[in-house]
Amino acid sequence: MHELSVTQNILNIALDHAARAHARRITALYLVVGQLSTIVDDSVQFYWDIVAEGTPAAGSTLHFRRVPAELECRECGARFGLGRDTFECPTCGSARVQVTAGEEFYVEAIEVEGETEGESGAPGAEAEAEADETVSSPASPPGDDDPSGK
Ligand SMILES: [Zn+2]
Repeated sequence: MHELSVTQNILNIALDHAARAHARRITALYLVVGQLSTIVDDSVQFYWDIVAEGTPAAGSTLHFRRVPAELECRECGARFGLGRDTFECPTCGSARVQVTAGEEFYVEAIEVEGETEGESGAPGAEAEAEADETVSSPASPPGDDDPSGK
């Protein structure tokens, strides 16, 4: 269940940023998930409700943004997406391809509710914290760095 540790990681990042922003509550998190990432949105959401309970992040919403995979051929330099079952280069047929995008998983932004005490008529002022922190998650690049080549 590696989503649990990943989710715990996200929570730590969120709480850290909320504390630095003197936020009272975390209302939303924006996560970027690469197409090749092994992260399952539903699992993260499931664990999130559990680990966030009792913290300022309780009840916050997770937003997932999927990033399409991009591959680059090491032989001919062609760049292509993942539209097929194979990782081979569509231009020259080489298997020496490199994943240039699609494995990422990180917190893009955190939406928090600021302190309201002392404020006049502005309850729940919204602030957005730039997070951009990569969550450590063991990714297994498929077909990357195959020494046998072709
Ligand atoms: Zn190629």
